[in-house]
Amino acid sequence: MTDFHQPVDASLVPRFAGHATFMRLPAVASAQGLDIALIGIPWDGGTTNRAGARHGPREVRSMSSLMRRAHHVSGVAPFSVANVADVGDLQVNPINLTDGLALIQRGMADIVATGAIPLSVGGDHLTTLPVLRAVAACGPVGLIHFDAHSDTNDSYFGDNPYTHGTPFRRGIEERLIDPNRMVQIGIRGSVYDPTEHDWAREQGIRVIYMEEFVQRGAASVMEEARSIVGDSATYVTFDVDSIDPSMAPGTGTPEIGGFTTREAQEMLRLLAGVNIVGADVVEVAPPFDVGGMTALVGATMMFELLCVMADMIDARRR
Ligand code: MN
Ligand code: MN
Repeated sequence: MTDFHQPVDASLVPRFAGHATFMRLPAVASAQGLDIALIGIPWDGGTTNRAGARHGPREVRSMSSLMRRAHHVSGVAPFSVANVADVGDLQVNPINLTDGLALIQRGMADIVATGAIPLSVGGDHLTTLPVLRAVAACGPVGLIHFDAHSDTNDSYFGDNPYTHGTPFRRGIEERLIDPNRMVQIGIRGSVYDPTEHDWAREQGIRVIYMEEFVQRGAASVMEEARSIVGDSATYVTFDVDSIDPSMAPGTGTPEIGGFTTREAQEMLRLLAGVNIVGADVVEVAPPFDVGGMTALVGATMMFELLCVMADMIDARRR
């Protein structure tokens, strides 16, 4: 444990000082030797409305300086039981969508090849598609998807197949995701057409609308989610617009009637036991944020995910 990377000691260097890295961990050039790699993906080339998620990683790094060493509920001290560091931002191309997707896939494949489990911060939700192309290269994964939106539409603005409203349709078509091991939680808001989510359900995706979540609560919904994904490899993707915009206004496609931050934290803690092969927090768009509150939500959800992932690694070693 002793040679694991540790955050900068806040009793020596205050949280507002020094270089901003995820969780105040060392910035490293390679994921080699890490259990969990923290990664920025500053790319919003799939955004259909309010752009700005490209600025997400930098602001989430800044607000993640508020994360401390241990989880107050689970008691997990992630930096004591897993080797974690900030591997920087993936290379991106802000003006060429095809090249942007290829660069993200390649960068993520390099990280996955080291054996480190990726925990990334977008970026818009299209970034999850090239990440899945790397993470699910050996076969389809299960997916637990927190979002206001299903992101399973076919195309936008004519026949453009790659947007942040389409990554999970592409992911299923490309056999990166097993739709029978996929659950979407928090879906809500107006739709383009009443039949918009039919395709998702026809594939076998379990779509849990916000109204059902409100009726059942986190424990019941997450028990079902865990049973849907089972013991096999599962990716977790957290769109910050699943949170109510009163608590997370800095995002491109806000939808009212969302999760409280507390409900989201409760659900992420209930991921304990899931075989997580990668996770992300996406759609933090600092140009629409207020006082960094959405970046703080992103950083905190990242910490919740990190604690569950570190505990999973620790359990394998025990
Ligand atoms: Mn989304
Ligand atoms: Mn969304």
